[in-house]
Amino acid sequence: MAIENKKLVTSKAVLHDKFGRKLNSLRISITQKCNLKCFYCHREGEVASDNEMTKEEIAQIAKIAYQLGMKKVKLTGGEPLLREDLPDIISEIAEYSDEVSLTTNGVLLEKNVETLSDAGLKRVNVSLPSLVPERFKNITKKDFVEQVKDGIEAAVQNNLCPVKINMVMLKGINVDEIPNAIDFAQEVGAILQLIEFEPIQPENYAYWKTFHYDPALIEYWLKKRAVSIQENALHKRKRYILKKNSDPVIVEVVKPMHNSIFCQNCTRLRVTSDGKLKPCLLRNDNLVNIIALIRQGASSNELEEAFKEAARLREPYWRGENGKCS
Ligand code: SAM
Repeated sequence: MAIENKKLVTSKAVLHDKFGRKLNSLRISITQKCNLKCFYCHREGEVASDNEMTKEEIAQIAKIAYQLGMKKVKLTGGEPLLREDLPDIISEIAEYSDEVSLTTNGVLLEKNVETLSDAGLKRVNVSLPSLVPERFKNITKKDFVEQVKDGIEAAVQNNLCPVKINMVMLKGINVDEIPNAIDFAQEVGAILQLIEFEPIQPENYAYWKTFHYDPALIEYWLKKRAVSIQENALHKRKRYILKKNSDPVIVEVVKPMHNSIFCQNCTRLRVTSDGKLKPCLLRNDNLVNIIALIRQGASSNELEEAFKEAARLREPYWRGENGKCS
């Protein structure tokens, strides 16, 4: 069924922005609601809104995106598993997407993993800011660390692979846990993704500096322990392969801040939970209101124009040799 329908959706020329960057993936926030209250959360750079898109609207946006070359979709939030229609959203999108993946806090993952996999979900990233129950509670305000760990294991068992554990590095909060997080990733068969802390509001740098941990420090540590290091040709993102008792584990380091290479190679367009095309996590002054067009009954051509407008508005946030802000 999915394969049949895919054939009906014809692809047009892949969208590029004026910096020559291809747009080939869509990151859709499907809710702002969350069952955790992580103090460090950037909330996908969204402004508060309770005007959630319906599953039909989400599917319509994903379909137009697919026609324009955005063949991979990642669902995010808030917490996407709080939407009861998540399996329907996934199965709709899977009809005309090469890969539907999800980023989740993992709390509700174990009991939903089979349904999501049956719906067409291919991969998950699971946030895990700490393995220590007391700390996890301080960071997220909830006592759910065991549920998250079980969710990660269930995702691996159900082959939503590679399962990536997302750990945002927070100075003075969790960086001392990185060796334990590596061990845990190895035990369960997941990849550990260490993510540089990004500002919650781009202008609030004082707060950011308090918790920002320089990824160069952990890269130095990883380099000394790695049996091999791979570099993604496009994004220049390093993957460190470590071994313990001869079993390998992969650790990736994601460094978005002041990183012009990161922006140069960004191929992602975002959609906010209230239906705006969002060219950059760190900006809200260049959104394109596609949901208004959908609700006015706009044609496919008009919706494609909205995507083209978002592509025109797309600019690297960090650029120049020293990664200055644009
Ligand atoms: N609730 C879901 C989750 O926890 O994955 C989806 C929303 S969360 C905003 C999406 C991703 O953003 C997670 O991988 C999380 O670790 C990451 N994230 C949240 N705040 C961040 C920040 N300030 N800097 C870098 N990454 C962040």
